[in-house]
Amino acid sequence: MKLHLKNTFIEANPADSNLENTRRQVFEAAYSFVTPKRTKKPELIHVSEEMLANLGISREESNSELFLKVVTGNEVYPNTKPYAMAYGGHQFGHWAGQLGDGRAINLFEVEHQKQNWKVQLKGAGETPYSRSGDGLAVLRSSIREYLCSEAMHYLGVPTTRALSLSLTGDDVLRDMLYDGNSAYEKGAIVARVSPSFLRFGNYELFAVRNDLKNLKNLTDYTINTYFPDLGKPSKETYIKFFEKVAIKTLDLIMHWQRVGFVHGVMNTDNMSILGLTIDYGPYGWLEGFDFGWTPNTTDRQHKRYRYGNQPSIGLWNLYQLANALYPLIDEAAPLEAILEQYKSDYGTKSLIMMKEKLGLSTADEKDPYLIKDLEDLLQIIETDMTIFFRLLSGYADDSDIQEILNTSVYNKEELVEEIEDRWKEWFQRYHNRLEKESLSKTERKAQMDAVNPKYVLRNYMAQMAIDKADEGDYSLISEFFEMLKKPYDEQPEYEHWFAKRPEWARTKVGCSMLSCSS
Ligand code: AMP
Ligand code: MG
Repeated sequence: MKLHLKNTFIEANPADSNLENTRRQVFEAAYSFVTPKRTKKPELIHVSEEMLANLGISREESNSELFLKVVTGNEVYPNTKPYAMAYGGHQFGHWAGQLGDGRAINLFEVEHQKQNWKVQLKGAGETPYSRSGDGLAVLRSSIREYLCSEAMHYLGVPTTRALSLSLTGDDVLRDMLYDGNSAYEKGAIVARVSPSFLRFGNYELFAVRNDLKNLKNLTDYTINTYFPDLGKPSKETYIKFFEKVAIKTLDLIMHWQRVGFVHGVMNTDNMSILGLTIDYGPYGWLEGFDFGWTPNTTDRQHKRYRYGNQPSIGLWNLYQLANALYPLIDEAAPLEAILEQYKSDYGTKSLIMMKEKLGLSTADEKDPYLIKDLEDLLQIIETDMTIFFRLLSGYADDSDIQEILNTSVYNKEELVEEIEDRWKEWFQRYHNRLEKESLSKTERKAQMDAVNPKYVLRNYMAQMAIDKADEGDYSLISEFFEMLKKPYDEQPEYEHWFAKRPEWARTKVGCSMLSCSS
């Protein structure tokens, strides 16, 4: 295994001079060198072939002892210096101080086919940023991150990627429900990969500490590396950089809204500077369409990170980033203008997104009402988002309504006459509206099916894969991994996964609500 290594991040940014692995506040440094923990009995569960290829690693090499040892932290790849990054963050609306890579360790940078990737282990042991945690991860949360991050990529949603999923052979103590009942779970490590793992919180930490030298250094590095087209760093470039981040963040959230993904912990330490989905924790997929739904038990009371609030939280988080970058710009008006622009772009982009889901490509001033009424109807009784939108592309006339509703509504007894009538009325309006479109029915169906996935990683499906894996059976992980590579294709062999959440999953832990414990 011969990797083409680079060191752009560690060369351009200052390292913590303390080389001890003790928990501490780290100042005037962007990262600390740290060595992953050795594990008892490392075992590879799954690898992403596409990510292997992206990194220039052959299938054969991935079967080697060296690969296994590297992706489980048991061997440091020659001539590399693993490190954990320093960042802070606003958690649930409040500044939380220094956080950092408490259980993520960056192994190295690989450059292959002109693309630069950072490879990082999640769950490879303590770092100076571990605070009260153990730096480890359990199998359950690792399966969720591994499967979902690759699935998101194939859905066309910007995301960090995953290279491998492994067992460490060590047991990890977790209080899954935060109810005082701790239990040992299998330890696991995901090797995840991204052009960058920088978060809003990396910039915030320097700004809060008034470390303007390092704030500027990190921002310049980010612009030079990821936004070279903006030109040489200057006040103007910092403004344009912020604008780019705002656009990427909104575009990302529009994708989440389109596919029904709820991140669950949109703290600023979990917001990628490149607009990627990052840190798969207590995320969830909408089953019943519901703007008020959050998968995260920690957020049950205020539902700050509920589905319908994700676009506003994106804006709130951008305010925090604007505050952090302000000292480099020294002028509030251009930053405020970009934040204002986010609001109006949100209106425009969400309308476009919803119109695409409905197969509407021409303009009609009444479309916002058609959409609003649909969203209301979808929420009166529990109606499966994925199934409803997928079946909508097959709608032709009145005779199809019953089947669409019967397949997507959870409790058919709730589908009383009054509600059915309202649906019929809505479909009549939709029918009339479609007549103003120029595409043939077949063309429209193809376009709609390309934005309304048939298969997503439903919460109960991930849990089924976890339960089997706990018993040493990884077949469902492989099955879902393959199926989710083509989420927009019909794939008749997987038709049984195009189904509503079964009733047993409604209240089962891990299937509807999740804790942050991972
Ligand atoms: P998260 O909510 O998972 O994004 O994590 C928030 C912060 O807690 C980050 O700084 C993580 O590195 C840290 N953290 C989460 N779990 C652990 C753990 N088991 N050990 C050490 N740090 C952790
Ligand atoms: Mg995080």
